[in-house]
Amino acid sequence: MDAQVSDNSRSITIIGAGLAGALLATLLAQRGWSVDVYEKRGDPRVRGYAGGRSINLALAERGRHALRLAGADDAVMSHAVMMRGRMVHFADGRTDLQRYGRDDSEVIWSIHRGELNISLLDIAETAGARLHFDRGLVAADFDRHVATFADAGGGLLDVGFDSLVGADGAGSALRVAMAKREGLGERTENLGHGYKELEIPPGDDGSFRIEPNALHIWPRGRYMCIALPNDERTFTVTLFLPSHGEPSFDTVRNGAEARAFFERDFADASPLIPNLEQDFDSHPTGTLATLYLDLWHLGGDAVLLGDAAHAMVPFHGQGMNCAFEDCVALAEHLDNAPDRASAFAAFQAERLPNARAIQQMALENYLEMRDRVDNDDFLLQRALELELAARHPDRFVPRYSMVTFMRIPYATAFERGRVQRELLADVTRGHSSLDTIDRALADRLVTERLPPLGKSA
Ligand code: FAD
Repeated sequence: MDAQVSDNSRSITIIGAGLAGALLATLLAQRGWSVDVYEKRGDPRVRGYAGGRSINLALAERGRHALRLAGADDAVMSHAVMMRGRMVHFADGRTDLQRYGRDDSEVIWSIHRGELNISLLDIAETAGARLHFDRGLVAADFDRHVATFADAGGGLLDVGFDSLVGADGAGSALRVAMAKREGLGERTENLGHGYKELEIPPGDDGSFRIEPNALHIWPRGRYMCIALPNDERTFTVTLFLPSHGEPSFDTVRNGAEARAFFERDFADASPLIPNLEQDFDSHPTGTLATLYLDLWHLGGDAVLLGDAAHAMVPFHGQGMNCAFEDCVALAEHLDNAPDRASAFAAFQAERLPNARAIQQMALENYLEMRDRVDNDDFLLQRALELELAARHPDRFVPRYSMVTFMRIPYATAFERGRVQRELLADVTRGHSSLDTIDRALADRLVTERLPPLGKSA
């Protein structure tokens, strides 16, 4: 065994030093826990970042709140690029900036996954967590409380543990080990769409080639492209496309076909991506799925969080934000509950319904991004939504804002969002412009159907 099991009941072993694992390690170490973290890959600070599920990510208030609690916000934000809204690129070449919030206090931030992970690892180590790289979990014996890890050369190491926390991502090995012990009710729903990352390099003068402070979207019905800025003045473009059908990754199979496809459907983006052919041929095609579990923990022996518990499709930009919120919740439950089994159970009871809600909203957002942002009904409802939000700021908050700029439970945002959508549909039905909308009716329905959000919401 290469680590001593602490007699201290406040000792914990985290599997995975990705985004959630590194943040949880920090939060627990800062609270005086003895924390060991085992990561399958090498140390990215020594070998360079080995890549992950996407090159950059949108960070929102939930994630930032967790980073602030860990003292990591300043380090992370020093590399972040502000995104004020969606810059929609229509098929005819027109563009339109749709603001996400009311002003620059309601924005999201583009951050580089590798830089974020490295900042979090530094902070975790400073807080006192012990990080063990090149140690991939391969098995866990919950009777003997021994976890088995493979090192980079394939050698096996047995390590004792008090409790294991699975922060090892969508393909979690801890989840597999737990499922051998007890059924977790696991279901995976594949979206049937994949993604490919491409790059817009800086212009010849070193500047951003398109508006930097926006999340760019090229909606095209059943498929779309997005682009997020990076602080080195590049953009990471992600093409989301069905796996089968026309067009799909079956018909757009290589760089040359991808260039022809871009020339036809993303004509303004195509010249911005000079290495499209090479990027397309050399980058992997990612798959997208939603993971549902009915059980996230085995008594006090093991618990899952982040993507290991509830991987989701990326269309609300909340997977990491949700995983960070999980970390804060788990640290608090571990501090407050009488024992680990109760802490893990309370954690699941709090977070599972919220994970389900954001998973559903993420699926719905795909339809909205690729198909609705350039649709007239959507734009009329969006215009009325903004008006009602301004008139009833304590009652009518756009669902995107509740998810992105607030920390009210995802499940509450989901339910209120449903009520608001119905209301908008009821009031705009049969209208094509704001001019003819019955404002008195709209106001009355808001007051009747939406109680004030209140401080606790
Ligand atoms: P991961 O980040 O996957 O980390 C898991 C870690 O565990 C890794 O370091 C891995 O090497 C390690 N590991 C794996 N197996 C083992 C093992 N057997 N033993 C030890 N270690 C192991 N979220 C957002 O909030 N905003 C976004 O804009 C956004 N965009 C996205 C875009 C795309 C295309 C995708 C695919 C996802 C996006 N997400 C986004 C979601 C986000 O990437 C995940 O929710 C987030 O990475 C989850 O963090 P995690 O720590 O749970 O898992």
